[in-house]
Amino acid sequence: MPQTPLLGKSLPELTQWIEETGQPSYRGKQLYRWLYQKGIHNLDEITVFPKAWRTEMADYPVGRSQIHHHRTAPDDTRKYLLKLHDGLIIETVGIPTEKRLTVCVSSQVGCAMDCDFCATGKMGFTRHLKAHEIIDQVLTVQEDFGQRVSHVVYMGMGEPLANLDEVLKSIHRLNKDVGIGQRSLTVSTVGVPDQIRALAEENLQITFAVSLHAPNQALRETIIPTAKNYPFDELLDECREYVDITRRRISFEYILLAGVNDLPEHAEELAKHLKGFQSHVNLIPYNPIDDVPFQRPGKKRINVFRQILQDYKIAVSIRYSKGLEADAACGQLRSNARRSPPRSSEPTGKVTVE
Ligand code: SAH
Repeated sequence: MPQTPLLGKSLPELTQWIEETGQPSYRGKQLYRWLYQKGIHNLDEITVFPKAWRTEMADYPVGRSQIHHHRTAPDDTRKYLLKLHDGLIIETVGIPTEKRLTVCVSSQVGCAMDCDFCATGKMGFTRHLKAHEIIDQVLTVQEDFGQRVSHVVYMGMGEPLANLDEVLKSIHRLNKDVGIGQRSLTVSTVGVPDQIRALAEENLQITFAVSLHAPNQALRETIIPTAKNYPFDELLDECREYVDITRRRISFEYILLAGVNDLPEHAEELAKHLKGFQSHVNLIPYNPIDDVPFQRPGKKRINVFRQILQDYKIAVSIRYSKGLEADAACGQLRSNARRSPPRSSEPTGKVTVE
């Protein structure tokens, strides 16, 4: 039998698998619960299964990663480095707020998009994540916080729409099996030609965010290299189709880089494009990363930008990322242990498992 990890399989698939191991089919449902609800790391943990079977299956891959390292910021945001079965490391962030626990998941190891302002872009692309490796991130944070995850944002390392099949599989499992509502799942993309349409055709009720970051093609392609192959107007047209098909509005993410894309004229131009578009704009003041000359604009500049959009009746919020002090904020994820050493001064006494 090929040893494909169990996490990521649906109830019928697990039932079929359990039968192939010689167990009665009702055990499929038990396995399903232990996998998705109890969050086992090893089949030997399923105490309701026969001892002989558990011993025989103890090495079968469940599909869980190991916490390589984690670190908590003063605002309680927790960043994890997770070690995958092949030794590669990805980053995941747990963001607790009053009523929510949000997980920011990675969809790839690294990223091929190479956006100028993003730390993940600097490390290049290594490989896509499998659905189970995405689901695992959510279960790991849930287990570590001892609290149910309420929201998942695909805003960690990687470009989700460049790995759409596995991302879709993970969405279905997180929704049906982990029990997170579709509206509480957010996929964010910088835009990959035809993939927004492909996602729209799935007709999901998820929240969809597009990283626009500029009000026109010329400026956009100076900060997002892949924009050269995806004209601004085509991107917006595909976004309009998304709204038509799904009847869901789109969130446009707009990173504010001082002196680059944050001037009043940029806000005016953006407003003209988005007027009448069923959308919401999230302004994200730039989070500093190493070796990059961009700067975060001051509060006054940010507020002027927001006011101009509001004057055009465009829904807008300013999103200050959490986790800045643990290098866990938007755009800061880069699986480089050198930048994330365990700090002995940290009160949380973070573990390093090796
Ligand atoms: N590839 C996807 C998802 C990952 S990035 C995308 O581009 O949408 C998640 C969000 O963080 C994106 O909006 C991205 O542009 C933003 N981001 C990247 N680097 C940032 C930085 N240094 N400061 C603030 N936001 C950043």
